Amino acid sequence: MTSTFVRGGLLALGFSTLAAGTAYAADVNIYSSRQPALLQPLLDAFTKETGLTTATIFVERGLEERVKAEGANSPADVILTVDIGRLDATKAAEVLQPLEDATIAEAIPAEFRDKDNEWFGVTSRARVVYASVDRVGDEPITYESLADPKWKGKICIRSGQHQYNVALVASYLAHHGEEATKTWLEGLRDNLATAPQGGDRDQARNIAAGQCDIAIANTYYVGLMRTNEKEPEQKEWAEAIKVVLPTFEDGGTHVNISGMGLAKHAPNRENAVRFMEFLTTDEAQRIYAEINHEYPLKRGVALSETVASFGELKSDTLSLTDIAAQRAKASELVDEVGFDRGPQG
Ligand code: FE
Repeated sequence: MTSTFVRGGLLALGFSTLAAGTAYAADVNIYSSRQPALLQPLLDAFTKETGLTTATIFVERGLEERVKAEGANSPADVILTVDIGRLDATKAAEVLQPLEDATIAEAIPAEFRDKDNEWFGVTSRARVVYASVDRVGDEPITYESLADPKWKGKICIRSGQHQYNVALVASYLAHHGEEATKTWLEGLRDNLATAPQGGDRDQARNIAAGQCDIAIANTYYVGLMRTNEKEPEQKEWAEAIKVVLPTFEDGGTHVNISGMGLAKHAPNRENAVRFMEFLTTDEAQRIYAEINHEYPLKRGVALSETVASFGELKSDTLSLTDIAAQRAKASELVDEVGFDRGPQG
């Protein structure tokens, strides 16, 4: 994969190679697996406040391998990614360095920070149920009950091997153990309307089209669909669904995070730390909430109107580190039950 930095802006992959040691343009170099459009308003606000410029390289896959390959000459200052699995993998690849920072520690609750201070959550998102406005009542739903035969042929979901679903299954494992999780996965699989396909938004589209009554998907997509001027049909998908916040029978709603870490060889360490601190300010947290429809991790920052309309989120209290520890097993079970082949019974 090749790519290049763009001063003050963002660029997808596909241009000239950034040779290690090249002079690059900005005060803070950010490697991100996040969609560029979601980041730009934050970068603009940071530059406006500090006068520091940013350059972002968008690496959708293999971000940690890439930084590792660049070694001590890596221009990376800050790494931004989503999902506890990715954060965990980035830490395991030894491309981050620990950071003791009082500002970040004060803003971000401990359960959303790595115990070794190598990664820090910035925002959270919940993995919830999208339910048909027309065909589903207002009953509460637990994750466990998604395997109930009453939903037979009525559930849509993306691939069980997608990191969002692997994290959910890992969370189920952490709550209930392997045997119960396998039984649950088989029940959920057999309740599917069709073999898993598409992304989270496609499941809302399927509900709008009458292919299924409920789906499992992330919260922020509802806000992104509702405000999508480029693809206005997504507004119709969003109108067809309501969000139910499911819980575990012995816990809360499964949440995951977007997060950040200080690159091991950050050439602009001081600026990098300033950027990371900035992402935990009220202003940055408000931008994440308002534009990306994520849950701010800093207390006291308001939710977007759409996200507030879902009702009060009671996040599961399992630590993300414990959930991450179950990811490999979760992925194995998804394969073992042939989840992605769809209903079998
Ligand atoms: Fe996503």
